Amino acid sequence: MSEQIERIKCLILGTGPAGYTAAIYAARADLKPIIYTGPLQGGQLMETTDVENYPGYPDGVGGIPMMEDFKKQAERMGTEIRFGLATSVDFNGELHTVTIDGEKKIHADTVIIATGASAKWLGLPSEEKLRMNGGGVSACAVCDGAFYRGLDVAVVGAGDTAAEEALYLANLCPKVHMIVRRDEMRASKVMQKRVLTNKNIIMHWNTETKEVLGEEEVEGVRVVNNQTGGESVIPIQGFFVAIGHKPNTDFLKGWLDMDKLGYLITKPDSTETNVEGVFACGDAQDNIYRQAVTAAGTGCMAALDAERYLSAKEFAESEAAEEAVEA
Ligand code: NDP
Repeated sequence: MSEQIERIKCLILGTGPAGYTAAIYAARADLKPIIYTGPLQGGQLMETTDVENYPGYPDGVGGIPMMEDFKKQAERMGTEIRFGLATSVDFNGELHTVTIDGEKKIHADTVIIATGASAKWLGLPSEEKLRMNGGGVSACAVCDGAFYRGLDVAVVGAGDTAAEEALYLANLCPKVHMIVRRDEMRASKVMQKRVLTNKNIIMHWNTETKEVLGEEEVEGVRVVNNQTGGESVIPIQGFFVAIGHKPNTDFLKGWLDMDKLGYLITKPDSTETNVEGVFACGDAQDNIYRQAVTAAGTGCMAALDAERYLSAKEFAESEAAEEAVEA
């Protein structure tokens, strides 16, 4: 006998602010949402220290407790949370098929994509080697910073993430070398000020990484000044990469419209994708704002769009049934 495929009304992929907010709204609309966590339950905010700009937290909040609050609220509304990663989809036909962890198939009337984005790496072989063997290359100061207490480290990048990482590390490490490829930072003015006035942070402007040094563990980084061509070695024990993110949308290639970076394209003023009944929200779809609060906002929109789509579909089906009876 062939296995019965589970059918659900509303499947949500991803547990960042977008996914949980979509779940809260979908549950309240009685869509009985099921949410799959993805590899990092809680999303990128699980790797963030202080969130000072999310409304409703006047004293700021840690990323981890904030995502715990999102989760509790989604659960209290009736969301079922499951562990698993969506690995492929088949969006042929009205009923959408999503495969979880390469094996379990689910049929969903609506799918909300809230898979977010992941940290980018420089792509150097030495970075890869020392990342894979746990030798001191990381993209998360909050997760790994404590290992480098009292040691010198480097942070690559000059956006808000890099600034946050550097400031976090500056509380633990005597020297935090910031490797910045231009002569200015992209980070917000307030973060720039904090970085530039921190006595433990040393700026290396117009500087690029050539190689992370060390066999088993990071021992230094070889950098080049892109104005003078001069190379130098900075002795460090930890190397943190904070150069932005890539949307987690590879598994949707060929099914959903996306831009050249992989960000999902939605219709104007909507979360609708090119496939009916499939909606996209959060960082998987937003290359411009990329904030927790905007992700939560588009998560809400996606649930409302899904609810309206289902109501219109159910109405059309009941009309068609009535017409068939009358005929
Ligand atoms: P960003 O894209 O804003 O910044 C990436 C940084 O990395 C830039 O300085 C960029 O340099 C640099 N970079 C990119 N590629 C390379 C490379 N190959 N080599 C060296 N440097 C490189 O990403 P973030 O992750 O910092 O931030 C993403 C969004 O999230 C932003 O909108 C940010 O404001 C927000 N955010 C907000 C936070 C908060 O409010 N608490 C915390 C963290 C992020 P260049 O400038 O030359 O392009």
